[in-house]
Amino acid sequence: MTHTHPHFLIVGQGLAGSWLAYRLIQSGQHVVILDVDLPGASSKVAAGLIDPFSGRRFVKALHSDVLLPFAKTAYTEVENHLNCRVYYPKPSVRLHAHADERKAWERKRCWPELSPYFGHDMGDFPGFHAPFGGVEVKEAGYVHVSVFLKAMADFFMALGCLIQRPFCEKDVLHAERVIFCEGHRGKENLFFKHLPFSNVKGDILTVDHKAQLPDTLVHKGKWILPLSPTRFKTGASYIRDYVDFEPSLAGRTDICTFLSDTLDLPASGYHVAAHEAGVRPILSDNRPVLGFLSEHPNIGIFNGLGSRGVLQAPYYAEKLTRHCIDRSSLELDIHISRFRCA
Ligand SMILES: Cc1cc2nc3c(=O)[nH]c(=O)nc-3n(C[C@H](O)[C@H](O)[C@H](O)COP(=O)(O)OP(=O)(O)OC[C@H]3O[C@@H](n4cnc5c(N)ncnc54)[C@H](O)[C@@H]3O)c2cc1C
Repeated sequence: MTHTHPHFLIVGQGLAGSWLAYRLIQSGQHVVILDVDLPGASSKVAAGLIDPFSGRRFVKALHSDVLLPFAKTAYTEVENHLNCRVYYPKPSVRLHAHADERKAWERKRCWPELSPYFGHDMGDFPGFHAPFGGVEVKEAGYVHVSVFLKAMADFFMALGCLIQRPFCEKDVLHAERVIFCEGHRGKENLFFKHLPFSNVKGDILTVDHKAQLPDTLVHKGKWILPLSPTRFKTGASYIRDYVDFEPSLAGRTDICTFLSDTLDLPASGYHVAAHEAGVRPILSDNRPVLGFLSEHPNIGIFNGLGSRGVLQAPYYAEKLTRHCIDRSSLELDIHISRFRCA
Protein backbone atom coordinates (compact mmCIF):
# COMPACT_ATOMS: atom_id res chain seq x y z
CA MET A 1 0.00 0.00 0.00
CA THR A 2 1.38 3.43 -0.90
CA HIS A 3 -0.52 5.22 1.90
CA THR A 4 1.21 5.60 5.24
CA HIS A 5 -0.57 3.59 7.89
CA PRO A 6 -4.24 4.74 7.61
CA HIS A 7 -6.55 4.50 10.61
CA PHE A 8 -8.91 2.33 8.58
CA LEU A 9 -8.48 0.09 5.59
CA ILE A 10 -11.91 -0.68 4.09
CA VAL A 11 -12.07 -3.69 1.78
CA GLY A 12 -14.90 -3.36 -0.76
CA GLN A 13 -16.70 -0.34 -2.18
CA GLY A 14 -20.27 -1.59 -2.50
CA LEU A 15 -23.08 0.00 -0.49
CA ALA A 16 -21.54 -1.16 2.82
CA GLY A 17 -17.97 -0.02 2.15
CA SER A 18 -19.04 3.26 0.51
CA TRP A 19 -21.24 4.32 3.40
CA LEU A 20 -18.76 3.25 6.04
CA ALA A 21 -15.79 4.95 4.37
CA TYR A 22 -17.86 8.11 3.82
CA ARG A 23 -18.86 8.34 7.48
CA LEU A 24 -15.35 7.58 8.77
CA ILE A 25 -13.87 10.27 6.50
CA GLN A 26 -16.48 12.73 7.75
CA SER A 27 -15.36 11.89 11.28
CA GLY A 28 -11.84 12.96 10.41
CA GLN A 29 -10.33 9.49 10.01
CA HIS A 30 -7.59 8.62 7.52
CA VAL A 31 -9.23 5.96 5.33
CA VAL A 32 -7.99 3.83 2.44
CA ILE A 33 -10.45 1.75 0.39
CA LEU A 34 -9.50 -1.27 -1.69
CA ASP A 35 -11.99 -2.43 -4.30
CA VAL A 36 -11.81 -4.64 -7.32
CA ASP A 37 -14.66 -5.52 -9.64
CA LEU A 38 -15.41 -9.14 -8.72
CA PRO A 39 -18.20 -11.21 -10.31
CA GLY A 40 -21.45 -11.44 -8.36
CA ALA A 41 -21.08 -8.10 -6.54
CA SER A 42 -24.54 -7.18 -5.34
CA SER A 43 -24.65 -3.38 -5.32
CA LYS A 44 -23.72 -3.24 -9.01
CA VAL A 45 -26.99 -4.93 -10.02
CA ALA A 46 -29.36 -3.91 -7.19
CA ALA A 47 -32.57 -2.20 -8.27
CA GLY A 48 -32.26 0.00 -5.21
CA LEU A 49 -35.87 -0.32 -4.10
CA ILE A 50 -36.94 1.15 -0.81
CA ASP A 51 -40.18 -0.16 0.64
CA PRO A 52 -41.67 -0.27 4.14
CA PHE A 53 -42.87 -3.85 3.64
CA SER A 54 -40.91 -7.05 3.16
CA GLY A 55 -42.30 -9.96 1.19
CA ARG A 56 -46.01 -10.69 0.93
CA ARG A 57 -49.03 -10.13 3.17
CA PHE A 58 -47.92 -6.72 4.43
CA VAL A 59 -45.30 -7.72 6.96
CA LYS A 60 -43.47 -4.55 7.89
CA ALA A 61 -39.72 -4.80 7.26
CA LEU A 62 -37.69 -4.86 10.48
CA HIS A 63 -37.05 -1.35 11.87
CA SER A 64 -38.66 0.32 8.82
CA ASP A 65 -39.86 3.21 10.95
CA VAL A 66 -36.28 4.10 11.84
CA LEU A 67 -34.46 3.03 8.67
CA LEU A 68 -36.72 4.80 6.13
CA PRO A 69 -36.38 8.37 7.40
CA PHE A 70 -32.71 7.80 8.21
CA ALA A 71 -31.96 6.58 4.68
CA LYS A 72 -33.87 9.43 3.00
CA THR A 73 -31.96 12.03 5.00
CA ALA A 74 -28.63 10.26 4.35
CA TYR A 75 -29.06 9.94 0.55
CA THR A 76 -30.26 13.55 0.33
CA GLU A 77 -27.15 14.61 2.24
CA VAL A 78 -24.94 12.79 -0.29
CA GLU A 79 -26.88 14.35 -3.19
CA ASN A 80 -26.22 17.82 -1.80
CA HIS A 81 -22.60 17.14 -0.93
CA LEU A 82 -21.58 15.30 -4.11
CA ASN A 83 -23.91 17.16 -6.48
CA CYS A 84 -25.70 14.11 -7.87
CA ARG A 85 -29.25 12.73 -7.93
CA VAL A 86 -29.62 9.25 -6.43
CA TYR A 87 -32.85 9.07 -4.44
CA TYR A 88 -36.18 8.92 -6.32
CA PRO A 89 -39.46 8.79 -4.37
CA LYS A 90 -41.91 6.79 -6.51
CA PRO A 91 -45.63 6.02 -6.28
CA SER A 92 -45.96 2.34 -5.46
CA VAL A 93 -48.74 -0.24 -5.65
CA ARG A 94 -48.94 -3.72 -4.15
CA LEU A 95 -51.25 -5.90 -6.22
CA HIS A 96 -52.90 -8.68 -4.22
CA ALA A 97 -51.74 -11.98 -5.74
CA HIS A 98 -54.75 -13.89 -4.42
CA ALA A 99 -57.85 -13.54 -2.23
CA ASP A 100 -55.95 -14.35 1.00
CA GLU A 101 -53.55 -11.52 0.40
CA ARG A 102 -56.42 -9.11 -0.04
CA LYS A 103 -57.95 -10.41 3.20
CA ALA A 104 -54.63 -9.88 5.00
CA TRP A 105 -54.66 -6.25 3.88
CA GLU A 106 -58.33 -5.78 4.87
CA ARG A 107 -57.44 -7.09 8.34
CA LYS A 108 -54.29 -4.99 8.72
CA ARG A 109 -55.22 -1.74 7.01
CA CYS A 110 -56.26 -0.06 10.29
CA TRP A 111 -53.36 -1.31 12.41
CA PRO A 112 -51.79 1.87 13.78
CA GLU A 113 -48.21 0.76 12.95
CA LEU A 114 -49.14 -0.07 9.33
CA SER A 115 -51.88 2.38 8.39
CA PRO A 116 -49.51 5.34 7.76
CA TYR A 117 -47.99 3.32 4.88
CA PHE A 118 -51.30 2.52 3.15
CA GLY A 119 -52.80 4.83 0.52
CA HIS A 120 -55.77 4.27 -1.78
CA ASP A 121 -57.45 0.95 -2.37
CA MET A 122 -56.83 0.25 -6.07
CA GLY A 123 -59.81 -1.72 -7.37
CA ASP A 124 -58.63 -1.86 -10.94
CA PHE A 125 -55.12 -1.18 -12.22
CA PRO A 126 -54.93 -0.55 -15.99
CA GLY A 127 -52.20 -2.45 -17.84
CA PHE A 128 -51.98 -5.20 -15.20
CA HIS A 129 -53.77 -8.41 -14.24
CA ALA A 130 -55.19 -7.46 -10.86
CA PRO A 131 -58.32 -9.58 -10.22
CA PHE A 132 -57.97 -9.03 -6.45
CA GLY A 133 -57.12 -5.34 -6.70
CA GLY A 134 -54.25 -3.74 -4.84
CA VAL A 135 -53.27 -0.96 -2.51
CA GLU A 136 -51.13 2.13 -2.86
CA VAL A 137 -48.03 2.05 -0.62
CA LYS A 138 -46.58 5.29 0.74
CA GLU A 139 -42.92 6.07 1.49
CA ALA A 140 -41.62 3.91 -1.38
CA GLY A 141 -38.98 4.79 -3.96
CA TYR A 142 -35.58 3.76 -5.18
CA VAL A 143 -31.94 4.74 -5.12
CA HIS A 144 -30.00 4.73 -8.38
CA VAL A 145 -27.26 2.59 -6.88
CA SER A 146 -24.78 2.71 -9.77
CA VAL A 147 -24.93 6.55 -9.80
CA PHE A 148 -24.44 6.52 -6.02
CA LEU A 149 -21.42 4.17 -6.24
CA LYS A 150 -19.85 6.23 -9.02
CA ALA A 151 -20.34 9.50 -7.09
CA MET A 152 -18.75 7.89 -4.03
CA ALA A 153 -15.86 6.45 -6.11
CA ASP A 154 -15.21 9.89 -7.64
CA PHE A 155 -15.24 11.45 -4.16
CA PHE A 156 -12.79 8.86 -2.78
CA MET A 157 -10.59 9.17 -5.88
CA ALA A 158 -10.45 12.96 -5.51
CA LEU A 159 -9.25 12.41 -1.94
CA GLY A 160 -6.71 9.88 -3.23
CA CYS A 161 -8.01 7.15 -0.94
CA LEU A 162 -9.51 4.58 -3.36
CA ILE A 163 -7.18 1.91 -4.72
CA GLN A 164 -8.51 -0.48 -7.35
CA ARG A 165 -6.92 -3.78 -6.47
CA PRO A 166 -7.76 -6.83 -4.35
CA PHE A 167 -6.90 -7.10 -0.67
CA CYS A 168 -3.79 -9.14 0.14
CA GLU A 169 -2.76 -10.52 3.54
CA LYS A 170 0.13 -8.17 4.18
CA ASP A 171 -2.22 -5.16 3.93
CA VAL A 172 -3.24 -5.98 7.52
CA LEU A 173 0.22 -4.89 8.65
CA HIS A 174 -0.13 -1.44 7.11
CA ALA A 175 -3.35 -0.15 8.71
CA GLU A 176 -4.47 0.35 12.30
CA ARG A 177 -7.74 -1.44 11.59
CA VAL A 178 -9.14 -3.32 8.62
CA ILE A 179 -12.90 -3.57 8.02
CA PHE A 180 -14.05 -6.09 5.43
CA CYS A 181 -17.11 -5.02 3.41
CA GLU A 182 -16.82 -7.74 0.80
CA GLY A 183 -20.48 -8.65 0.28
CA HIS A 184 -21.01 -12.31 -0.61
CA ARG A 185 -17.21 -12.77 -0.84
CA GLY A 186 -17.13 -12.50 2.95
CA LYS A 187 -18.02 -16.19 2.93
CA GLU A 188 -14.51 -17.02 1.64
CA ASN A 189 -12.66 -14.73 4.08
CA LEU A 190 -10.62 -16.89 6.49
CA PHE A 191 -11.06 -14.42 9.36
CA PHE A 192 -14.82 -15.01 9.21
CA LYS A 193 -15.09 -18.66 8.37
CA HIS A 194 -17.29 -19.16 11.48
CA LEU A 195 -20.00 -16.87 10.09
CA PRO A 196 -23.04 -18.74 8.73
CA PHE A 197 -23.38 -17.06 5.35
CA SER A 198 -26.44 -18.21 3.45
CA ASN A 199 -26.07 -16.08 0.32
CA VAL A 200 -28.76 -15.94 -2.34
CA LYS A 201 -28.23 -15.20 -6.02
CA GLY A 202 -30.68 -12.99 -7.87
CA ASP A 203 -31.36 -12.21 -11.55
CA ILE A 204 -32.74 -8.90 -12.71
CA LEU A 205 -34.00 -7.92 -16.18
CA THR A 206 -34.21 -4.63 -18.06
CA VAL A 207 -37.21 -4.75 -20.37
CA ASP A 208 -38.25 -2.52 -23.31
CA HIS A 209 -41.93 -2.25 -24.26
CA LYS A 210 -44.40 -0.12 -26.24
CA ALA A 211 -47.35 -0.33 -23.83
CA GLN A 212 -48.95 2.51 -21.89
CA LEU A 213 -47.90 1.62 -18.34
CA PRO A 214 -48.35 3.89 -15.31
CA ASP A 215 -45.20 5.46 -13.86
CA THR A 216 -45.66 3.43 -10.71
CA LEU A 217 -43.56 0.86 -8.93
CA VAL A 218 -45.61 -2.36 -8.92
CA HIS A 219 -45.16 -5.29 -6.51
CA LYS A 220 -46.84 -8.64 -6.83
CA GLY A 221 -44.36 -10.99 -5.22
CA LYS A 222 -41.78 -9.69 -7.67
CA TRP A 223 -41.70 -6.07 -8.84
CA ILE A 224 -41.65 -3.77 -11.89
CA LEU A 225 -39.77 -0.47 -11.66
CA PRO A 226 -40.42 1.98 -14.56
CA LEU A 227 -37.26 3.80 -15.67
CA SER A 228 -38.79 5.62 -18.66
CA PRO A 229 -42.10 5.44 -20.60
CA THR A 230 -40.69 2.51 -22.64
CA ARG A 231 -38.31 0.75 -20.23
CA PHE A 232 -38.55 -0.93 -16.83
CA LYS A 233 -36.43 -3.08 -14.56
CA THR A 234 -37.99 -6.20 -13.11
CA GLY A 235 -36.99 -8.97 -10.76
CA ALA A 236 -35.70 -10.49 -8.87
CA SER A 237 -35.13 -14.23 -8.76
CA TYR A 238 -34.12 -15.87 -5.48
CA ILE A 239 -31.71 -18.76 -6.04
CA ARG A 240 -30.11 -20.43 -3.01
CA ASP A 241 -28.31 -23.31 -4.76
CA TYR A 242 -26.33 -21.35 -7.30
CA VAL A 243 -23.19 -22.73 -8.93
CA ASP A 244 -21.86 -19.58 -10.62
CA PHE A 245 -22.39 -15.83 -10.75
CA GLU A 246 -23.68 -15.69 -14.33
CA PRO A 247 -27.22 -14.60 -15.24
CA SER A 248 -29.23 -17.83 -15.24
CA LEU A 249 -31.89 -19.20 -17.58
CA ALA A 250 -33.88 -20.38 -14.53
CA GLY A 251 -33.89 -16.84 -13.14
CA ARG A 252 -34.90 -15.30 -16.45
CA THR A 253 -37.73 -17.82 -16.90
CA ASP A 254 -38.96 -17.16 -13.36
CA ILE A 255 -39.13 -13.40 -13.98
CA CYS A 256 -40.71 -13.78 -17.45
CA THR A 257 -43.41 -16.02 -15.93
CA PHE A 258 -44.10 -13.28 -13.39
CA LEU A 259 -44.38 -10.72 -16.23
CA SER A 260 -46.84 -12.81 -18.22
CA ASP A 261 -48.93 -13.37 -15.04
CA THR A 262 -48.85 -9.68 -14.12
CA LEU A 263 -48.76 -7.54 -17.26
CA ASP A 264 -51.82 -7.21 -19.45
CA LEU A 265 -49.55 -7.57 -22.50
CA PRO A 266 -48.65 -10.45 -24.83
CA ALA A 267 -45.03 -11.64 -24.55
CA SER A 268 -44.48 -10.15 -28.04
CA GLY A 269 -45.24 -6.71 -26.54
CA TYR A 270 -41.93 -6.52 -24.67
CA HIS A 271 -38.37 -7.76 -24.96
CA VAL A 272 -35.49 -8.28 -22.58
CA ALA A 273 -32.80 -5.66 -23.23
CA ALA A 274 -30.44 -6.72 -20.44
CA HIS A 275 -30.07 -9.57 -17.96
CA GLU A 276 -27.81 -9.25 -14.89
CA ALA A 277 -27.20 -11.27 -11.76
CA GLY A 278 -25.63 -10.72 -8.35
CA VAL A 279 -25.41 -12.44 -4.99
CA ARG A 280 -27.11 -11.05 -1.89
CA PRO A 281 -24.88 -11.32 1.18
CA ILE A 282 -27.09 -12.97 3.82
CA LEU A 283 -26.39 -14.41 7.28
CA SER A 284 -28.50 -17.30 8.61
CA ASP A 285 -30.49 -14.99 10.93
CA ASN A 286 -31.02 -12.46 8.14
CA ARG A 287 -29.48 -9.62 10.18
CA PRO A 288 -26.48 -7.44 9.31
CA VAL A 289 -23.14 -8.31 10.93
CA LEU A 290 -20.92 -5.56 12.35
CA GLY A 291 -17.98 -5.20 14.68
CA PHE A 292 -14.48 -6.46 15.42
CA LEU A 293 -13.18 -9.92 16.23
CA SER A 294 -12.46 -10.35 19.96
CA GLU A 295 -9.32 -12.39 19.16
CA HIS A 296 -8.15 -9.86 16.49
CA PRO A 297 -9.49 -6.47 17.63
CA ASN A 298 -8.02 -4.75 14.57
CA ILE A 299 -10.09 -6.92 12.17
CA GLY A 300 -13.69 -5.94 11.57
CA ILE A 301 -16.63 -6.60 9.30
CA PHE A 302 -19.69 -4.83 7.89
CA ASN A 303 -21.76 -7.29 5.91
CA GLY A 304 -25.03 -9.24 5.75
CA LEU A 305 -27.15 -6.47 4.25
CA GLY A 306 -29.31 -9.08 2.50
CA SER A 307 -32.04 -7.82 0.18
CA ARG A 308 -32.21 -4.43 1.86
CA GLY A 309 -28.75 -2.93 1.46
CA VAL A 310 -30.01 0.46 0.30
CA LEU A 311 -32.10 0.97 3.41
CA GLN A 312 -29.76 -0.63 5.94
CA ALA A 313 -26.30 0.52 4.81
CA PRO A 314 -26.55 4.22 5.83
CA TYR A 315 -27.94 3.45 9.29
CA TYR A 316 -25.57 0.64 10.22
CA ALA A 317 -22.54 2.45 8.74
CA GLU A 318 -23.33 5.30 11.11
CA LYS A 319 -23.61 2.84 14.03
CA LEU A 320 -20.28 1.21 13.20
CA THR A 321 -18.59 4.60 12.78
CA ARG A 322 -19.80 5.67 16.23
CA HIS A 323 -18.57 2.34 17.60
CA CYS A 324 -15.13 2.93 16.04
CA ILE A 325 -14.82 6.56 17.12
CA ASP A 326 -16.70 6.85 20.44
CA ARG A 327 -16.62 3.15 21.40
CA SER A 328 -20.44 3.25 21.58
CA SER A 329 -21.80 -0.28 21.89
CA LEU A 330 -23.44 -2.29 19.12
CA GLU A 331 -26.62 -4.25 19.83
CA LEU A 332 -26.06 -7.99 20.19
CA ASP A 333 -28.46 -8.86 17.33
CA ILE A 334 -26.12 -7.14 14.83
CA HIS A 335 -22.77 -7.69 16.59
CA ILE A 336 -20.36 -10.27 15.21
CA SER A 337 -20.01 -11.78 18.70
CA ARG A 338 -23.45 -13.40 18.36
CA PHE A 339 -21.69 -16.00 16.19
CA ARG A 340 -19.19 -18.07 18.14
CA CYS A 341 -15.85 -19.18 16.70
CA ALA A 342 -15.54 -22.98 16.57
C1 LIG B 1 -30.73 -9.04 -8.09
C2 LIG B 1 -30.61 -8.21 -6.84
C3 LIG B 1 -31.51 -7.19 -6.61
C4 LIG B 1 -31.41 -6.43 -5.45
N1 LIG B 1 -32.30 -5.41 -5.26
C5 LIG B 1 -32.21 -4.67 -4.14
C6 LIG B 1 -33.12 -3.61 -3.92
O1 LIG B 1 -33.99 -3.33 -4.76
N2 LIG B 1 -33.01 -2.88 -2.78
C7 LIG B 1 -32.05 -3.15 -1.84
O2 LIG B 1 -32.00 -2.45 -0.82
N3 LIG B 1 -31.17 -4.15 -2.02
C8 LIG B 1 -31.23 -4.92 -3.13
N4 LIG B 1 -30.36 -5.94 -3.32
C9 LIG B 1 -29.42 -6.24 -2.23
C10 LIG B 1 -28.21 -5.28 -2.24
O3 LIG B 1 -27.66 -5.35 -3.53
C11 LIG B 1 -27.20 -5.72 -1.17
O4 LIG B 1 -27.79 -5.69 0.10
C12 LIG B 1 -26.00 -4.77 -1.13
O5 LIG B 1 -25.64 -4.36 -2.41
C13 LIG B 1 -24.80 -5.41 -0.47
O6 LIG B 1 -23.75 -4.49 -0.52
P1 LIG B 1 -22.29 -4.87 -0.02
O7 LIG B 1 -21.49 -3.62 -0.09
O8 LIG B 1 -22.35 -5.58 1.29
O9 LIG B 1 -21.74 -5.95 -1.06
P2 LIG B 1 -21.31 -5.77 -2.61
O10 LIG B 1 -22.24 -4.88 -3.31
O11 LIG B 1 -21.16 -7.15 -3.16
O12 LIG B 1 -19.92 -5.04 -2.57
C14 LIG B 1 -18.72 -5.68 -2.22
C15 LIG B 1 -17.59 -5.03 -3.02
O13 LIG B 1 -16.34 -5.50 -2.51
C16 LIG B 1 -15.52 -5.96 -3.58
N5 LIG B 1 -14.63 -6.97 -3.00
C17 LIG B 1 -15.00 -8.15 -2.42
N6 LIG B 1 -13.93 -8.78 -1.95
C18 LIG B 1 -12.85 -7.99 -2.23
C19 LIG B 1 -11.45 -8.10 -1.97
N7 LIG B 1 -10.94 -9.16 -1.29
N8 LIG B 1 -10.62 -7.11 -2.36
C20 LIG B 1 -11.12 -6.01 -3.00
N9 LIG B 1 -12.46 -5.85 -3.28
C21 LIG B 1 -13.30 -6.84 -2.89
C22 LIG B 1 -16.54 -6.49 -4.59
O14 LIG B 1 -16.02 -6.62 -5.89
C23 LIG B 1 -17.61 -5.40 -4.48
O15 LIG B 1 -17.28 -4.29 -5.28
C24 LIG B 1 -30.41 -6.72 -4.48
C25 LIG B 1 -29.50 -7.73 -4.72
C26 LIG B 1 -29.59 -8.49 -5.89
C27 LIG B 1 -28.59 -9.59 -6.12
